Amino acid sequence: MSAASPRYSAWSLLRARLAGEGFWQPLWSGARLKDGYDVVVVGAGGHGLATAYHLARDHGIKRVAVLEKRLVGYGNVGRNTTIVRSNYLLPENHYFYEDSLRRWERLSRDLNYNVMYSPRGVLDLALSDGEMIGLARRGNAMRLAGIDAELLDRPGVMKFAPELAAAGPRRFDIVGGLLQPRGGTVRHDAVAWGYARAASALGVDIIEDCEVQGVRTAAGVATGVETTRGFVGAGRIVFAVAGHTGAVGRMLGLNLPVETHLLQAMVTEPIKPLIGSVLIYVPPHGEVYVTQSDRGGVVMGGFLDGFPSYTREGQWYRLEDVVGAAVALLPQIASLRILRHWAGTNDMTMDGSFIIDRLRHDNVFLNGGWCYGGFKAIPASGAACATFVATGTAPDLIRAHNLGRFASGHLLDERGGGPFPVRQ
Ligand SMILES: Cc1cc2nc3c(=O)[nH]c(=O)nc-3n(C[C@H](O)[C@H](O)[C@H](O)COP(=O)(O)OP(=O)(O)OC[C@H]3O[C@@H](n4cnc5c(N)ncnc54)[C@H](O)[C@@H]3O)c2cc1C
Repeated sequence: MSAASPRYSAWSLLRARLAGEGFWQPLWSGARLKDGYDVVVVGAGGHGLATAYHLARDHGIKRVAVLEKRLVGYGNVGRNTTIVRSNYLLPENHYFYEDSLRRWERLSRDLNYNVMYSPRGVLDLALSDGEMIGLARRGNAMRLAGIDAELLDRPGVMKFAPELAAAGPRRFDIVGGLLQPRGGTVRHDAVAWGYARAASALGVDIIEDCEVQGVRTAAGVATGVETTRGFVGAGRIVFAVAGHTGAVGRMLGLNLPVETHLLQAMVTEPIKPLIGSVLIYVPPHGEVYVTQSDRGGVVMGGFLDGFPSYTREGQWYRLEDVVGAAVALLPQIASLRILRHWAGTNDMTMDGSFIIDRLRHDNVFLNGGWCYGGFKAIPASGAACATFVATGTAPDLIRAHNLGRFASGHLLDERGGGPFPVRQ
């Protein structure tokens, strides 16, 4: 936007457009697809864009393209509920997600783009002594790794989240909780735009409306991708297509250990500030994580719809579960109207942990299996995946997240650390 631009109205915008004046600068250049690249990244979601950005910034690889079949941010990066945290039990997960959280803390400066990181705290609520034991174990593991975690008793929970005290007693009442104070939210579309803008400024070509449909090989090496715009040569290929990871497997003749599942979320009409953190509550009749957007809407989500599907049309019963649990937690919101509800497709692995590994060929890489928790992973995933692709060696942070674990049985099994605790 030009510094001298006057106040905007629909009329002033139209007049400026007709007069050929530009109010807004495009965030990334309208690059033209070239015949070949050093690296082709498939998918302009958070992981694809972050990988391309780090390839260019950290490894000086400038002939990089991101090929996207729809629009930047059309996938899950623009559909998630924006929660970031590193409150995982297993070292293979909590060190990785902590690396990501530290990157979130400085990402606005790194990208020179405000991604609105809001460390408002993520609070897992326990409804029984057994659940408290599970949360204490997770919190202890985190603290041993230098990650912030506070085990709260009931009064501690009510002090931290007074909106819960105002609600009075519940049928499934709160015994305590595990708080990660530095957890919180980040504006999701700003993340997609910020990475796209920064990558483009470093010379990465971002090509929308270009679907990858196959991989061409010669003498056992991938030579490029077949796309809806023709063949594009590639020295290395990275697939970061989230809910379409299974389709990548089919392109390469592999049956990957992922299933595509639908996850829904919703937002209410805006109200004045009520919920100051991210609250996670799992009564026997449902589950909910709830937060409040900067605009005032109450944002809610729950668990997967429960069967493999590529559809983005969610099932009604899952919304009832989420709303039922939300109202049990916060009866004050019972009369709010739901404004919007949406869904995205997630590539679920059987152990809930992600995969960054080679795929059949030495020069083809998979960045996927992010399940319902991959938004928070984007900064760490982009940096680690780029190092793997550039150097040929997986950094320690992601070495355990290989495909081989599904054959050997060395699973990283904690259902992705949430959003819901495994019942004790
Ligand atoms: C409702 C919902 C709530 C969520 N909430 C959270 C949360 O609070 N916190 C959290 O950490 N995670 C959350 N997640 C999960 C998170 O959004 C995903 O794990 C993560 O965004 C996936 O990575 P991505 O951003 O790279 O994916 P995407 O944005 O989906 O990017 C993949 C891209 O690949 C493109 N593509 C696919 N196939 C092809 C092809 N053949 N050729 C070219 N392009 C292709 C797609 O169009 C898409 O743009 C949520 C997910 C959903 C659906």
